[in-house]
Amino acid sequence: MSVHTTALAINGGEPIRKRAWPLWPQPAPGALEALNEVLHSGRWAISGPYQGRRSFERRFADAFAAYHGVDHCVPTTNGTASLLVALEACGVGAGDEVIVPGLTWVANYTTVAGINAVPVPVDVDPDTLCVDPAAVEAAITPRTAAIVIVHLHSAVADLTALTAIADRHGLPLIEDCAQAHGARYEGRRVGTFGAFGTFSMQHSKVLTSGEGGAVITRSPELARLAEHLRADGRSYRSTQPAIGEMELAQTAELMGSNFCLSEFQAAVLLGQLELLDGQNERRAANAALLDETVLELGFRPQVSSLGTTARTYYEWAAWIEDDELAEIGAPRLAAALAAELGGPEVDAAYPAANANRLYCPGTRKRFAALNGALDLTRYALPVSEEARQRVVTIHHAAFLGDERDMYDIAAAFDKVCAYRHELCDL
Ligand SMILES: *Cc1c(COP(=O)(O)O)cnc(C)c1O
Repeated sequence: MSVHTTALAINGGEPIRKRAWPLWPQPAPGALEALNEVLHSGRWAISGPYQGRRSFERRFADAFAAYHGVDHCVPTTNGTASLLVALEACGVGAGDEVIVPGLTWVANYTTVAGINAVPVPVDVDPDTLCVDPAAVEAAITPRTAAIVIVHLHSAVADLTALTAIADRHGLPLIEDCAQAHGARYEGRRVGTFGAFGTFSMQHSKVLTSGEGGAVITRSPELARLAEHLRADGRSYRSTQPAIGEMELAQTAELMGSNFCLSEFQAAVLLGQLELLDGQNERRAANAALLDETVLELGFRPQVSSLGTTARTYYEWAAWIEDDELAEIGAPRLAAALAAELGGPEVDAAYPAANANRLYCPGTRKRFAALNGALDLTRYALPVSEEARQRVVTIHHAAFLGDERDMYDIAAAFDKVCAYRHELCDL
């Protein structure tokens, strides 16, 4: 083959695929009617006066709690707010240490810093890319106040080991399920194993209202604290309000902030929740097909922890095994794959906590007092750091179609491997 060939789409060659991909998000049947109902209801938020009908926010909270088999759900504005509410409801605050995964979205560090606590990143397991339980236990100090774990990409963290560690040390476990709506461990939905499960319903997630979030818990006490924290110190009153009255009572039991989900978003989520299981099944079936094909090409798909009984694919992920390809690096390889496919978001794994450009508390004056403690560059996170160089991820929207889409993705992997020299010369 000539060294002048430019076969790869990223270099101007013909792409593997020109056909359109499934659109994300996909609205549920009845979404327009539900939104119309909110528009004419006289109530666009739970902080508006009662109009004789159960709020969509309560209806979604009930449905989401029932979906998980727990009694309590408190919706919030987004996943970030969910984490803030869960941490503070667990009593975490100024000067406390919170253990967080070394490989995750930046919100897991900013939320801990946001309540004047100190994030302590720990490394992840190379197979699951979720926190390594042994590393969690080794990081516990007398100042540790909580453990935040993340079910990352398409894996469930080792909940058997992690719940045992949390119990042994008397620490609240917060499960960040922003990437794992509907996943199961030993038959039970994730988010139900710790003190709180927290969720994001931001645009990219598998359950979405554009922006949105929720916390779930088994504990009525924690749920009440969460209600106050997300509604400026107000909570739903226990007695039926009259029409025109406020449904939120000003108890002032606990000072809060406003992290309330609007009625529009709640109405959308109620419909989307109906689609979740079917979409999760379809994605998992397609991902299994792709796993088989890329294994033969020298990529090792992410696996989930042993007790996992249902996976949710927020992102499909795989390690580059080949050292020559790894030298090119996951970010460049991902860009080449994206150019071949023309649609799906293909990426490298997140930067490790100690190298995340978006985590820069020095740019905010409010963190000045804590600045030294908030420096994450002093931590060594070898697996998380290697993942940035060697793990490729594909967003779940690409898995909502059929097997022909998987063949196209596999063909893109095949082609990029075959023409890897074009990426070295850049
Ligand atoms: C998306 C995400 C968040 C933040 O959620 P937002 O709704 O964007 O605030 C937190 N944690 C993880 C793991 C996420 O993927």
